[in-house]
Amino acid sequence: MASDYIGRINNRQEIKGSPETNLPAAPIVHGDPALSRLQRTESGQPVRPSDASRMSSELHHEMQTHQADLTPTQSRFPFTRPQVTRALAVGGMLLTCATGAFALGGAGFFLAMAAEALAFAGGLLSANSRLKELEEENQRLREKATQDPLIGINNRGAIDEILREHLLRAPFRQTSVSVIMADVDHFKKINDTYGHQVGDEVLIEVAERVYESLRGEDEVGRYGGEEFLMVLPGIGGTQAVLIAHRIRLAIAEEPFYTEAGDLDVTMSLGVSSTDFPELVGPELLVKAADQALYQAKNDGRNRVCMNLVAQLPEAAAN
Ligand code: GH3
Ligand code: MG
Ligand code: MG
Repeated sequence: MASDYIGRINNRQEIKGSPETNLPAAPIVHGDPALSRLQRTESGQPVRPSDASRMSSELHHEMQTHQADLTPTQSRFPFTRPQVTRALAVGGMLLTCATGAFALGGAGFFLAMAAEALAFAGGLLSANSRLKELEEENQRLREKATQDPLIGINNRGAIDEILREHLLRAPFRQTSVSVIMADVDHFKKINDTYGHQVGDEVLIEVAERVYESLRGEDEVGRYGGEEFLMVLPGIGGTQAVLIAHRIRLAIAEEPFYTEAGDLDVTMSLGVSSTDFPELVGPELLVKAADQALYQAKNDGRNRVCMNLVAQLPEAAAN
């Protein structure tokens, strides 16, 4: 049995390098006042409680029969005392005898190694699940940083970044990039008449309809309160105008079924497009779409305007 565990210890050294630094943090099952500094590691279940229990009683037995052999400083055991106690913590029930176990000579020495190996196996499992937790946490944080909390689509920073990337990539594929800036008409009135909550409901439904009108490779982000920016890679100006009209109709042609009843909602859209992605920065393209949107509002709302300026970068810069 001992050699089996020692083999695993060797494996660990091969895989993990120095045992001084690489022992995973082990979960503590029950505390021991003498080992209170271990409490700062996270709590958890023993990985193999039956093994831990057996090891524990064997170690107790060894300690009782080899009291005289306690020689901590001369131990040949290849790990430091804190490492062993930390690793043994995984076994839970091994905790109480852990500090003395590694100092035993003879069979006790091997038992301590066996216990450590067992603990290490548990520690690995625990480290794995911790890694998974961290990955999930990372994913949550990434989403929090890039998603709008109300609607769950890209926030402004994220859609800006997406546009920047598309413009950078586009020249190599010799393709156009278009954007659409859209703004709900008289949205303040919806809020004022029916309340902020109904306004929120409308916003979410607007985003859904926009999303459903786009292709898989298109992206949409919430740019401001009731303003959305769409990025259409590989789409030229004429096609982008058609898409903008499709979105406009998707909003205007079907009432919004809200808590406050059926509401008619419209949206104005400004399109800008470039066939020179390598020459047009994201700011310029967005600004051109904004100008087109402004025009659509001035012309009476519920309409699409296009700003051709972005197709001639030198002219747009003036
Ligand atoms: P226009 O047709 O010119 O766009 O008029 P508008 O009323 O839509 O424009 P305005 O900018 O005056 O109003 C936008 C309103 O959007 C004001 C603000 O209170 C509201 N708003 C911004 N963010 C949210 C939100 O998250 N939820 C709700 N319910 N309202 C919001
Ligand atoms: Mg508005
Ligand atoms: Mg607005």
